[in-house]
Amino acid sequence: MTEVSLQKITKNYGQLEVVHGIDLEISHSEFVVLVGPSGCGKSTTLRMIAGLEEISGGTIKIGDKVVNNLPPRDRNISMVFQNYALYPHMSVRDNLGFGLKIAKHPEAEIVKRVENAAEILGLGMLMDRLPAALSGGQRQRVAMGRAIVRNPDVFLFDEPLSNLDAKLRVQMRTEIKKLHKRVNNTIVYVTHDQVEAMTLADRIVIMRDGHIEQVGTPLHVFENPVNTFVGSFIGSPPMNQLDGKVLSDGKSGLQIALADNIVIPVPTRARNHVSEGQDIIVGIRPDDMTPIGHGMRDDGETVSFDLMVSISEPLGTETILFSTIGAKDVQGKMLNPRPIVGDERLTFNLSLDRIHLFDAGTGNNVLGGLDD
Ligand code: ADP
Ligand code: MG
Repeated sequence: MTEVSLQKITKNYGQLEVVHGIDLEISHSEFVVLVGPSGCGKSTTLRMIAGLEEISGGTIKIGDKVVNNLPPRDRNISMVFQNYALYPHMSVRDNLGFGLKIAKHPEAEIVKRVENAAEILGLGMLMDRLPAALSGGQRQRVAMGRAIVRNPDVFLFDEPLSNLDAKLRVQMRTEIKKLHKRVNNTIVYVTHDQVEAMTLADRIVIMRDGHIEQVGTPLHVFENPVNTFVGSFIGSPPMNQLDGKVLSDGKSGLQIALADNIVIPVPTRARNHVSEGQDIIVGIRPDDMTPIGHGMRDDGETVSFDLMVSISEPLGTETILFSTIGAKDVQGKMLNPRPIVGDERLTFNLSLDRIHLFDAGTGNNVLGGLDD
């Protein structure tokens, strides 16, 4: 059983602390993705797990062993990087087996493990080629093969798909998912790409500025972002975030006034979590703001208002609609789209069950911590 446990991990470069006390428990055979903007500390965290960077504070355990001071080779991990660093003068077969050879594994054992990895990754036909004669995706697969032959307890991936074109990236994503299904090792995977994170992860860890903002399953985090940062980072097109103020309507309850005289009721589930006069950021995903008759669900608690649509982007199954509320650009979606020509005034339905309310001062979700 190979759990990975990070307890109060910090990292300093000289005077500067770049990772500020991270706690994270990763289960055996779990696929965990660290995601966040460039510079937030993902690679540093991964490299500390690998032993390529010393930790400045805290404890790292792999399995039941504290590895704080173990060199990388004694941690039984394999790491796959963005630049695959294959040996250019060696065939695929030799690239795959080289690490085992250096570690003085018996020849028969090496052959067996290399063949097994080649089979898992579909490299059979390429075994005698040099890296120069491989496509980007094939090279990436060899790099993964090199990690597999070592039969590690934990795979560590640092943006392994970043150098591939968009189409190949999607293909390799599926390959990595299949690989995990097959070998079932614990995986810690780093990416700045939230779509990659959402599609691969059992759980995603959203980082910002050396902190963890939220941990949860992709769907949980999508549906329950703890703050405006997570709300806007996860999901594409991004969540609209509109400034509003909570008002009392004098009789039935609380409402939120947005710009352009748009007023929406506070959803039932949030009634006890906001107060009159509070400045609120209303988070609305484009999927939840759809022209009447062109939405996924027009049921539940909804409110409608008119918006002038100035630009539309037809994607086939849906069309992204661009408008404004006050000075803010907003995006909605039209499902089962019909053509839109020129500017058009449309009545949008807003699904109140699906909007997110954040306190404008703190940026935190008014519903609280929202643990998975
Ligand atoms: P990410 O992988 O999320 O893009 P990194 O973990 O590479 O981010 O970097 C986190 C922070 O640490 C950044 O501010 C980066 O500039 C800083 N950093 C990374 N490596 C070093 C280093 N060797 N010396 C000083 N600062 C570093
Ligand atoms: Mg990085």
